[in-house]
Amino acid sequence: MYGITSSAPEVRALKDELTGTVTVAGDAGWDDARAAWNLAIDQRPAVITEPETVADVVATVNFARERGLRVTAQGTGHGASALGSLQDTVLIKTHRMRVVGIDPECRLARAQAGAIWADIVAPASEHGLAPLAGSAHDVGVVGYTLGGGVGWLGRKHGLAANGVVAIQVVTADGRVRVVDADHEPDLFWALRGGGGSFGIVTAIEIELHPIDELCAGMLAFPWERAAEVLRAWREWTRTVPDEVTSLGRIMQIPPLPDIPEPLRGRSLAVIEVACLHGEAGTAELVAPLRALGPEIDTIAPMGPAGLLGVHMDPPGPVPGAGDGALLDELPGDAIDALVAAAGPGSGSPLVSVEVRHLGGALARSHESHGALAALEADFALYAVGMAPDADAIAAVNAHLDVVKGAVSEWHAGRRFLNFSERRGGDDMFAPAALRRLRAVKTLVDPDDMIRANHPIAPVD
Ligand SMILES: Cc1cc2nc3c(=O)[nH]c(=O)nc-3n(C[C@H](O)[C@H](O)[C@H](O)COP(=O)(O)OP(=O)(O)OC[C@H]3O[C@@H](n4cnc5c(N)ncnc54)[C@H](O)[C@@H]3O)c2cc1C
Repeated sequence: MYGITSSAPEVRALKDELTGTVTVAGDAGWDDARAAWNLAIDQRPAVITEPETVADVVATVNFARERGLRVTAQGTGHGASALGSLQDTVLIKTHRMRVVGIDPECRLARAQAGAIWADIVAPASEHGLAPLAGSAHDVGVVGYTLGGGVGWLGRKHGLAANGVVAIQVVTADGRVRVVDADHEPDLFWALRGGGGSFGIVTAIEIELHPIDELCAGMLAFPWERAAEVLRAWREWTRTVPDEVTSLGRIMQIPPLPDIPEPLRGRSLAVIEVACLHGEAGTAELVAPLRALGPEIDTIAPMGPAGLLGVHMDPPGPVPGAGDGALLDELPGDAIDALVAAAGPGSGSPLVSVEVRHLGGALARSHESHGALAALEADFALYAVGMAPDADAIAAVNAHLDVVKGAVSEWHAGRRFLNFSERRGGDDMFAPAALRRLRAVKTLVDPDDMIRANHPIAPVD
């Protein structure tokens, strides 16, 4: 089957059947079709489909199953680095299925599988509502949410996975199922935090949250002050209510033309804050941070759509390598170790080393929650560097190990799926959750046909 060509009768039949497109190596458009958002990833699947309908997804899954191929879904390719070789796999790129509906009365959004966060955030914002989106406008709603989803409203409203109301999914047998708390609750549970191993999601329905008041932005300091500023930020996180979600980071911003002048080419220590209060309440809360004397201060009132700009994520696809870790705690020694590994004089090639403050609703589990019921760690580390060629990939990966190793003493025993860009073992889930995930996988996909970047294997 590998090396399959456009003229193969089964490919011609699939092309005839699909409203969307089917692309194989050698076709015009092959390189565009196989590109992931992370341009460092060179993916070469057996076949690529770009479905436009649920029927296209069903036809693709049936095509793969009948030919002994595996199948995997990709919304954007932000999480493509952990996928591994796709030579025996049909890649379903969902980006043409981007219809989004907002129901302001019920405070719900329904999104097709290819929607990115900007597709929901903008129309929801018009009604004063917000989803539990992450930092970047173009991360896929489905991939992010299946992996848990930690965003700016996280400490107040929890993980995105636990704000899901229903999921439409095509399972390995080609059946279209709509799962929720009352219909196939085990599969619904597994999809909410267990990742993409259980089926090809075609649509997702999520809760929206009313946002009456919001201030957000960043405080930037010369990076020589990184240890002092991050230590002060860490002390401050002990005092804030759940309405405040924040992170501290060390940045070496590349001198790229589309980066605004005050930041372009700079090295900085940065604190980013989102606060569900008005200007006066926020000013009171962030006063201890402002007292540090930031060089840049952008914290200001904004609508929910503004949150997608706070973290300064890349505006479009880039080549990168990153990885993260959950940290049980972040004492001053841990901050010093991070600054020594990634701050001034470290020789670090990393663009950003950030630590997100967790806790609040992110740490509170409930029996209604999914496979990732809560993040049982106080902080999440994520570091990333630009990786345009093999040498850069090697240098960035080596330094990711240095940074993660510097704080290994404080690693929680578990990793967070969304901040893990390397293939890992079974340490994403508590043992009981992993056993249940594997049992669900065995029921819906005993032959392990559906692949995910962080796979759950069926029981042997
Ligand atoms: C710049 C950047 C910013 C980020 N910010 C945040 C953040 O603030 N918070 C956070 O929690 N994470 C964040 N992430 C991590 C991100 O949430 C994960 O990489 C996530 O997996 C991306 O989903 P995607 O659909 O965009 O990527 P993809 O690579 O398309 O998908 C990742 C995986 O999700 C699964 N998947 C995707 N679509 C489907 C589908 N239709 N059906 C079944 N499975 C599917 C597959 O297993 C796939 O391998 C960020 C990543 C980047 C690169």
